[in-house]
Amino acid sequence: MQIDKNMAQAPFGIYIHWPFCQKKCPYCDFNSHTQKNINQSAFTHALITELNYMVQRFGFENRALASIFFGGGTPSLMDPAMVERILTAIETACAVGATCEITLEANPTTLEAKKLAGFRSAGINRLSMGIQSLNDRNLAFLGRQHSAHEAQNALKTAQNIFARVSADFIYALPNQTLKAWQEELKQILDLGCTHLSLYQLTLEQGTAFYSLEKRGKLTMLDDAEAVEQFLYTQELCAHHALPAYEVSNHAQAGAQCRHNLIYWQGGDWLGIGPGAVGRFCHQKKRIETRTRKSPESWRQDVSNLGHGITSTHSEVAADYASEMLMMGLRLTQGVALNQIATRTGCRKNWLNDDALNRLTAEGLLIKTDDNLRIAPKGWHLMNSIIEQLLK
Ligand code: SF4
Repeated sequence: MQIDKNMAQAPFGIYIHWPFCQKKCPYCDFNSHTQKNINQSAFTHALITELNYMVQRFGFENRALASIFFGGGTPSLMDPAMVERILTAIETACAVGATCEITLEANPTTLEAKKLAGFRSAGINRLSMGIQSLNDRNLAFLGRQHSAHEAQNALKTAQNIFARVSADFIYALPNQTLKAWQEELKQILDLGCTHLSLYQLTLEQGTAFYSLEKRGKLTMLDDAEAVEQFLYTQELCAHHALPAYEVSNHAQAGAQCRHNLIYWQGGDWLGIGPGAVGRFCHQKKRIETRTRKSPESWRQDVSNLGHGITSTHSEVAADYASEMLMMGLRLTQGVALNQIATRTGCRKNWLNDDALNRLTAEGLLIKTDDNLRIAPKGWHLMNSIIEQLLK
C-alpha cells in the first residue's frame, strides 16, 4: 500500500488506558477490572515505558500531537500526580503543542470531584464525565455508583474548573417512555454542557445485561420506540444549538471532541495500556497494534519486553479505505471520497457502486460532487447502510 505523503499531516493522538473501576457496570464491555490494591506508581511506570517504546519504534518523536486522551476504566480514580507524570513523559517523548486537547474521563462521585482541580493542575484541559442519567432509579438500574444530585454537583465543579466539559448519557432503557426521556433530555440540556455524548443502551456480549436478556430476565426497548427517542434527541439538541456532528455526539460550534475526530477521520493514534488499540500509518503502511488485556499480564510483559503488544497487524489498502469510509460516515459532514482514495492509495474495490446508487436513489445517502454523507432520514439505519456500501 502506498499511503499518501500528506498522511504525515493527518491529526495524531495518544490514547492512555487506565483499566480499573470501582465496580463493573452491567452494560459495559470495556476492558475494565475491579482489582483491589492497585500499585498506581508501578502501573504508571509501565504506561510510560510502553509509551516511550511505541513512540520510538514507530517514529512519532517529532509529530505534533493534536490530542491526548485518558480513558478506561475510570482514569479519575488515578492520583493526579500519576496523570502529571504521564503528561511530563509525553512532553519529553513527543511534540505537544499549546493547542493540544488533553481529555480525562471521570465518574461523578463526590470522591472523584474532589480531585478535579488536581487534574487541571496536572495538565488536563478537557473533562468527559460519565453521568449516564439524571434519574436515580435509572442510575441504580445501570449499576452506577453516584446519585443524580451528586452528578449535578460534580458537573458544576468541573464546569468551574475546566473550559471544556462533556457529559455522557444513556437512553432507550427498558421501559423508558418517550415522555420520560423527553423530560430528562430537557433537564440535560439545561446543564450548560457544550458537548454531549448521548448513547442508546445496547446489549454487548459478555456483559451482565447480555446474560440477563438471554435468560429472559431483561427485555430491551422495542426498536421502533428506540428510533423515536433517537429522532427526538436529534431534533431537540439541534434546537438547543447542540447539533449532532456524529451519530451519538452533539456539540456547540468549535466544541467537538478532537480526539474522537482522529478516529472518525482515519487519523493516527497510539494506544497505550492494557487492551488498548492503536492505528497509524508507518513506512507507507497502515498498522494496527493490540496489547495484552489483563492488566497484570500486560504489566509483566512491559517489565520484561518494554511493551505489552500482542499483535502488530499491517492492513491492506482496501482495509484502510473501508475504515475511513465506515468511520467517516458516522459524521454528519460525511466523507470526501477522493481523499480516501488519495490517502490510502486504493482506488477501487472498497465501495459497492450498486449499493451507493440504490441508497442514493432511496434518499438514504446524499452524494454531492466528491462528498458522501448519510441523509437525516437514514441516520437510524447507519449500520445497515455502511454494511451495504462495504460489501
Ligand atoms: S465505570 Fe465506565 S468503564 Fe467502568 S465498568 Fe462502568 S461503564 Fe465500564
